[in-house]
Amino acid sequence: MKPYYSISEFYKKKFGEKVQKISVSVADTCPNRLGLKGMQTCVFCDVWGSAAYPEIRDDELNTQITALMEHLRRKYHANKFLVYFQSYTNTFVAVKKLEAYYEAALEHKDVVGIVVGTRPDCISQGLLDLWSNISKRTYLSVELGVQTFNDIFLDFLKRGHDSRCSMDAIEKISSIGVDVGLHYILGNPGETDKDIVELAQISNRLPIHNVKLHNLHILKNTTLEKYYLDGKFQPLDLNTYAERVRLFLEHLSPQIAVQRLGAVSSRWDELVAPEWTRYKMKTNQFILDKMSEKGSVQGKLLL
Ligand code: SF4
Repeated sequence: MKPYYSISEFYKKKFGEKVQKISVSVADTCPNRLGLKGMQTCVFCDVWGSAAYPEIRDDELNTQITALMEHLRRKYHANKFLVYFQSYTNTFVAVKKLEAYYEAALEHKDVVGIVVGTRPDCISQGLLDLWSNISKRTYLSVELGVQTFNDIFLDFLKRGHDSRCSMDAIEKISSIGVDVGLHYILGNPGETDKDIVELAQISNRLPIHNVKLHNLHILKNTTLEKYYLDGKFQPLDLNTYAERVRLFLEHLSPQIAVQRLGAVSSRWDELVAPEWTRYKMKTNQFILDKMSEKGSVQGKLLL
């Protein structure tokens, strides 16, 4: 049994069986990359905009869904799926177009809902209306890349929005009855244990359903790579990262599901540092061992 409330457990409760997410790409840019309102590309983002399967990102949506569904059926013996619109900023597209994508995804027999990844400052009223309608007939979850609620860290990451904007987006999405997931980055420069505890405590006060943890790792051709080469940024070692995850989970409400404990760099040739980010299972196991050593479970230190 995992020492935290995993997203697979959450899905099993909700759908009564194993459900896998299929990560698809329909967007190919975002406001930061286009430099709108003086924005800059986020310091950690490479040219693929976080796409899980960049090799198929230009395929038709239906082709992507069918191919990935078959792959995940074989790999994980799953029969039900959520289509996850993951890469870049998936709501940075006309609402009508998004509606067509959602409908196309939902036509697949074994798709039980959709998950949309986006940023807090790309949510229009038209989009909220669309989400509200879709969520009345299927499962819908929106995952926001809020990264942190610390405005100094947001500034460093060049996200182009502040924590107030994230709070507003969470409030708006949850008010229409849609599940909210938040993506966090640990390992910002100057980050302390107090920051980690605060992040968990803020999460506990918000109307959210899950969180996903990422370590700030360095990919080639990113601003972060320049900072690293100039000696201005150093990523966390695995032990320190594991300690931060443990601390975060001990202060996180056991009602909030956890999607994963750390980012993995699947494109090994593009990873600059840290080396441990290459290994998903090893990293995961290291964190779990740390938690086990200290008798840690999610919510252990909840006040
Ligand atoms: S992380 Fe997202 S918002 Fe930032 S530059 Fe990459 S695709 Fe754009």
